[in-house]
Amino acid sequence: MHYIPQVLFLIALATAGYFIARRIILIKKTIQLGKAEDRTDNPSIRLKNMLLLAFGQKKMFARPIVAVLHLAIYLGFIIINLEVLEIVLDGLLGTHRIFLKPLGSLYPILINFFEILALGVIVACVVFLIRRNITKVERLQGSRHSEMKGWPVKDGNIILVFEIILMAAFLKMNAADSVLQGRNVGHFAESQTGSFIISQFLVPAMDAFPSSFLIFVERASWWFHIIGIMCFALYVTYSKHLHIALAFPNTYFSDLNPKGKMSNMPTVSQEVKIMLGLEQAPETPAEVGRFGAKDVEDLTWKNLMDAYSCTECGRCTSACPANITGKALSPRKIMMSTRDRLEDIQKGWLNNGYEYKDEKSLLGDYITDEEILACTSCNACVQECPVMISPLDIILQLRRYRVMEESQAPQSWNMMFQNLETNMAPWKFSPDQRFDWAKED
Ligand code: SF4
Ligand code: SF4
Repeated sequence: MHYIPQVLFLIALATAGYFIARRIILIKKTIQLGKAEDRTDNPSIRLKNMLLLAFGQKKMFARPIVAVLHLAIYLGFIIINLEVLEIVLDGLLGTHRIFLKPLGSLYPILINFFEILALGVIVACVVFLIRRNITKVERLQGSRHSEMKGWPVKDGNIILVFEIILMAAFLKMNAADSVLQGRNVGHFAESQTGSFIISQFLVPAMDAFPSSFLIFVERASWWFHIIGIMCFALYVTYSKHLHIALAFPNTYFSDLNPKGKMSNMPTVSQEVKIMLGLEQAPETPAEVGRFGAKDVEDLTWKNLMDAYSCTECGRCTSACPANITGKALSPRKIMMSTRDRLEDIQKGWLNNGYEYKDEKSLLGDYITDEEILACTSCNACVQECPVMISPLDIILQLRRYRVMEESQAPQSWNMMFQNLETNMAPWKFSPDQRFDWAKED
């Protein structure tokens, strides 16, 4: 009987661990659908980028108030994991506040620090809920951005409410614990920590209740807090909040080339060089493959990781000139559609096995021609993204497919292509007329 809580805890931990691991393996497998691309050069620059952008949240500080609130949630989330470690050990070993003895007087200081963080998380989450639902920040509104209707809005709210409840359970647990310590009840008497900096304000409300009820409150809060964290960890793998983890590899493997440098197709570059006599034609021509991307398998693994790392913040969309001028394009929606496509592939795998392929494709079924043709290639979305995502890279590859594989460019573009081919400039004048403008009549 004595071991029942430990056994139950072990079952809960193993179940959560199983489902989280299964989900991570599936996401990894989906990202691996993408084409290979080497992003391991310049490790020191990459590490610096990751520390500045993911760990230091550098780009977030373009909007300081939001950045500070986001930092509070982020630090709270990261640092409070130390407290979760104690809860897990207590759950497995049947102990109570296992770190108290080894840490001694440092322990209450640490818990006080966690409580301040917990309060910071609660305040930040409340402010974010107000921004989303009452003051209605424009870039997060479904009435203005079609991709922000339904689930994305719910997802944002669910996670904020979830975090408030988890932190409140932590404070409630500590408050009940300190009252029970004061009353010298059972094993609580053996872990004398005194009351803590934030939860002490809940103590007067708890004092009115009998010890049996407070033991129930303490245990219920403890279980709720840890089971909630397990559910949260699993939920995150289905949510845009996966960026909590993926922001780190995503910034590390981000593109180090100057913005505006477009990736050439080596086979096309070689063809041009052969035409210009800069290179000899190889004896056996290289296999060309598909030009551009029609579906996610034609994108790179980094494009696919970008899709899972997108926070749906909409900073890219609010800076996009195409979107601002009312075109159908939203770079955030490009990332969300890529992720939707990956999620649908996963569903197909789960229902029909890993060999399953449906009839759909990213271009056409998830992203329209109208969207990709509206892009001006200005790179504003790439510049704005706090986690170094490039919606432009996906747009360019989809567009390359439409133009090069299907010859479906708008008429005005075809005229420009023709001019480039024949006049080596986008205009309809031949090269020998190029300096006519300087002639005096
Ligand atoms: S590169 Fe394209 S998608 Fe990105 S901001 Fe510019 S126009 Fe919008
Ligand atoms: S691509 Fe970047 S800027 Fe755009 S919504 Fe996603 S995370 Fe935000």
